[in-house]
Formats: sequence, C-alpha cells, structure tokens
Amino acid sequence: MKAISLISGGIDSELATRIILQQGIEVVGLNFTTPFCQCSRKGGCRNEARRVAESLSIEVKVISLVEEYFEILKNPKYGYGKNLNPCIDCRILMLKKAKEVMSEVGASFIVTGEVLGQRPKSQNIKSLSIIEKEAGLEGYIVRPLSAKILEASIPQKEGWIKTENLLDIIGRSRKKQIELTKIYGMKNYLCAAGGCLLTDKNFAKRMKDLLINKKNLQLYDVNLLKIGRHFRIDKQTKVVIGRNETENNRLLAFNKEDTILLQPLKIPGPVCVGEGIFDQKNLQVSANILATYCDGNDDKVEVLDIKKNKVIIANKLQKSQLQHYRIEEIVNV
Ligand code: SF4
Repeated sequence: MKAISLISGGIDSELATRIILQQGIEVVGLNFTTPFCQCSRKGGCRNEARRVAESLSIEVKVISLVEEYFEILKNPKYGYGKNLNPCIDCRILMLKKAKEVMSEVGASFIVTGEVLGQRPKSQNIKSLSIIEKEAGLEGYIVRPLSAKILEASIPQKEGWIKTENLLDIIGRSRKKQIELTKIYGMKNYLCAAGGCLLTDKNFAKRMKDLLINKKNLQLYDVNLLKIGRHFRIDKQTKVVIGRNETENNRLLAFNKEDTILLQPLKIPGPVCVGEGIFDQKNLQVSANILATYCDGNDDKVEVLDIKKNKVIIANKLQKSQLQHYRIEEIVNV
C-alpha cells in the first residue's frame, strides 16, 4: 500500500507523514511551490521539504505551479481569503496535481497535514469537503492530525490504516504538535513551512495592482514585486526604487530590453527600474520619484538614463505628490 503525502516542510505535514509511515504504508512526498512561497530559511520551502523527506527516508517530488496558479489567482471560483489568498482554489489545484501523481506512482490515497479549524477559510468542514470533491478525491484524502473528528476516509473504512492510531487535533494552537515532536525526536522543524505572500496585506496591494494593470502576468512581474518601493505612473507604466544597496543590486538584475534604468549621476542614491511607456512626461515623473529618494539637500538632482546615456534634471517631490503614485506602504518581504 502506497500513499502520496503533501509535504510543505512544516511541522504538520511531517507529523502526518510520520503517522502514516508508522502504519506500514509506503509514502512518496510531494511538495508544491508557487511564486508566492516565502520561507525564513535559506533555500526556501522546497529545501525544507527535501530536509523533511530526508529525515523520513522517503522520496519527494517537487512541483512548481506558475501559469496555472496565475489563472486561479486572477479569478478564483471560491474567492479570496483575508487578503489575496485564493486558499480553496489553491488547495484544489494542488490536490488535482497530487491525484495525477497518485496514479503515476500507483498510490492509493493522499495524506495531508491539514488540521480542522487551523485556517478559517480553507480548513473548516465545508471547505475541506468542497476541496475533496472538486479535486475528484472524495474519500481518498487522509488528514491524520484531525482524522478522528472528521468523517472516515476510504483508507480508514477499508482498514488500510487504523483510525485509533490517528489524531483529533483541532484549532490553531500547535501545542499538541510540539508535544509530538518530542515523542518523534524531531529537531530543526519549522512550525509552518513558510508563508504565502498572498496573505500579506501590503504584498496583496502590489499584486492587486498588477492583476488590474497587467494582462499577461509573468514570473518576472511577481518577483519584482518582492523588492523595492513601487509606483504606478499610468496603466502601463510603473517604476520600482531600491530601498538599500542589496535591493539596488538586485534591481539591476531585473533589467530587460524594454525596461528603463535610472540612477543619480553625481550623488548617492537608489536604482530605479521601470516598465511601460516612457515618453518624456513619464520619464520625467520617474526621474522625479527617484530624485526624491536621493541624498543631499538640493531640490534638483541630475539623473542618468543609463541605457540612453542621457541626463534628466529631476525635481524632488513633496510627500503628497509621491503618495499619488505610490502603490503601497513600505513592507519587508
Ligand atoms: S495560504 Fe497561500 S499557499 Fe496556502 S492555501 Fe492559501 S493561497 Fe495556497
């Protein structure tokens, strides 16, 4: 008997997998990454998933969801959570993929680390049932951490796994899970594998701006959202200004054939990368925004259009003028 276990790299999915392994079931791990995954540890969520799989001595497959993810993000059938997180649609997409892998590897059911009531929108009885149904996996998902308080799955009914060895955890507290880590001798674990930027209020504002203004969403656009200060000049045109040296260096790597690149000519200051239509007016506005973040007391700043090797005399903006273009408050992501 073989199962697929969704491994995020966090404590819940590791415990769920351990519980199933203990019942003599062979497990293949499956990790999903989206452009919005963020992890406090170097290497990101997929590294954490690999670390967990290694400690469990199981194979792990990593699936990256990009285009399909953008599609559900634009128009999620079940709507958004508190911010721009389409949790129910996201879980459906992941479980549909898991179902494909399930038949590829000859597995009989799917295991997840979901806990009833841990996430208000996607982990209540109604949502869990919608997710299962929409993914075409009714009865074939085992949630070992909450299984005793959920309707029995087919693997339980068929006796492939024993319900008495499963748990009855409910709610957001991870107290029980932490106790279990001691029993299992788990070290170096993460309470949650990482965050999802779509649940971050400020990131969600930037992303919403992108969804409204950009039709053909690319991974490039989303990655650019993760750094700098963002300003929208018009529907097609936006600029990003670095907040420190690290970001300025990272922004230079976002340079493409059709982007503009500005930097102050004679004084220290940030890098500006811009995308869109840069006629004289928009170029001047971009240079003015950049100038506002330059050191020095002069209101006028010489800004170099690096690609055209042209100097623009820019004027620092008042706070209210700047605010007019700004997409959101500064956020550390
Ligand atoms: S928090 Fe993000 S990754 Fe997690 S289910 Fe919701 S949308 Fe998906």
